[in-house]
Amino acid sequence: MDLSEIAKAAGLRTPVRHQLFINGEFVDAASGETLPTLNPHDNSLIAEVAMAGAADVEKAVQAAEAALPKWQRMAAMDRGRILLKLADLVEENAEELARLESLDTGHPIRDSRILDVPRTAVTYRYFGGMADKFQGEQIPVEAGFLNYTLREPVGVVGQIVPWNFPLMFTSWKMAPALAAGNCVVMKPAEITPLSSLKIAELMAQAGMPPGVVNILPGLGQIAGQAIADHERIAKIAFTGSTATGRRIVQASAGNLKKVQLELGGKGANIVFEDANLVAAVNGAAWAIFHNQGQACIAGSRLMLHEKIADAFLEKFIPLANSIRLGNPLDPNTEMGPLTSAQQRDRVLGYVQVAKDQGGEILAGGQAPGGELAKGCYVQPTIVRVKSAQDRVAQEEVFGPFVTVLTFKDDAEALQIANSTDYGLGSGLWTSNLQRAHRFARDLKAGMVWINSYKRVNPGSPFGGTGLSGYGREMGFDAMREYTQVKSVWVNVDAQITPHYAR
Ligand code: NAD
Repeated sequence: MDLSEIAKAAGLRTPVRHQLFINGEFVDAASGETLPTLNPHDNSLIAEVAMAGAADVEKAVQAAEAALPKWQRMAAMDRGRILLKLADLVEENAEELARLESLDTGHPIRDSRILDVPRTAVTYRYFGGMADKFQGEQIPVEAGFLNYTLREPVGVVGQIVPWNFPLMFTSWKMAPALAAGNCVVMKPAEITPLSSLKIAELMAQAGMPPGVVNILPGLGQIAGQAIADHERIAKIAFTGSTATGRRIVQASAGNLKKVQLELGGKGANIVFEDANLVAAVNGAAWAIFHNQGQACIAGSRLMLHEKIADAFLEKFIPLANSIRLGNPLDPNTEMGPLTSAQQRDRVLGYVQVAKDQGGEILAGGQAPGGELAKGCYVQPTIVRVKSAQDRVAQEEVFGPFVTVLTFKDDAEALQIANSTDYGLGSGLWTSNLQRAHRFARDLKAGMVWINSYKRVNPGSPFGGTGLSGYGREMGFDAMREYTQVKSVWVNVDAQITPHYAR
């Protein structure tokens, strides 16, 4: 089918041949090359997108450098005003953004409508409001001196995001960076560039000065690496795999750029014997099956107290089996396809790994047949593993794939929960207050949810420890990450005794 017909069928208004966004304009890549973007529902072509290379990165950095002096000196409230306007525009274009996101990533449209788009709008709004609230300090020092700190933007910031939540993750990265007065070179994932290009269009409408934001779809090894290596980029903020995170750290050594990493996870979701089982079953399904499990904070290791394990699974397995898989654009769909055929194959590969290590498939474990066979679908999959050390209980699968283990007491639960190299998000379900807070203290994680899972808010710090990376997105922490502190000393009336009396 012709590209424009595909777009029309999906109800898209945006042109389907996309360009890079550099210096406030949509332009072709210097090489003229493009990348195809596929619909994971049936692997049909949705768009051809210009593919950035090192020359385009250089052009974007130059545009950002040229825009920086004016942008960082602009009244913070005026920077904020542009982000507030952008938040309004995201809401005005909500349906188109939701469709683009669903078409490109496979998110069920009902999730794109009630989660991805509203969360994106609130993130731009939160940081729009934050721009003139974040401030330096005055420090009480010795008599006669005034000492204060300035919070300065770090400069030109490179941002690299993955394909699992492209719309939301670009807002998590761009909103605080811009509020703090930085200019941005953003690279969306090669397979999901569409919603961020729509945001570029809305940025221009919101009055963002040219060069402040540059959006460059392209391959990780080419455009991503060029951003990571760039000597005049002052900071990289990255979300993606731990392997790529390591490469980015290595590349940062050249100009000692700041690095912020949000990497993988292997979230423990612990259900104690005194939990509200109905809430825990629903919460556990949400924790792993939302977005087809393609979330760094997914509750991918379900840990059940041995006394309630059978009762829990009696409810959990039929719930998983009843989740409605289908075309993401259908409002009745509860689970869409994985975002790429590569990711589907990777997840199915892990089903085999689980079986090879003696894992018992309690639900799913296959790609569905029929109409969905040509898409990137995987059934909701539950695997009882033999040991917390099994590969599927240690490695990030990044799909609708949850491992089940039982434990006998709190000590064993904590030991299992903390037994991976990751440390991003963990959840626990209990009615014992002391236990809840003790686990919150003792879990190796950047985020802990008690009697819930996967809550996020632009005000609440987001990030991990260990192989899950470092630095925090969201809230005041994000503003700290995107600024550097300058300490200013003023001699107000100090009489200084000369050191070198002559
Ligand atoms: P990835 O780390 O390769 O890609 C993430 C982003 O980094 C993309 O924009 C990519 O183009 C870019 N990139 C790739 N190589 C680069 C390089 N050398 N220099 C700079 N940028 C580079 O992740 P993936 O291939 O998309 O997914 C692989 C696995 O990573 C998944 O299966 C999952 O386990 C994990 N993952 C985690 C997250 C998360 O949110 N933490 C997101 C996506 C993927």
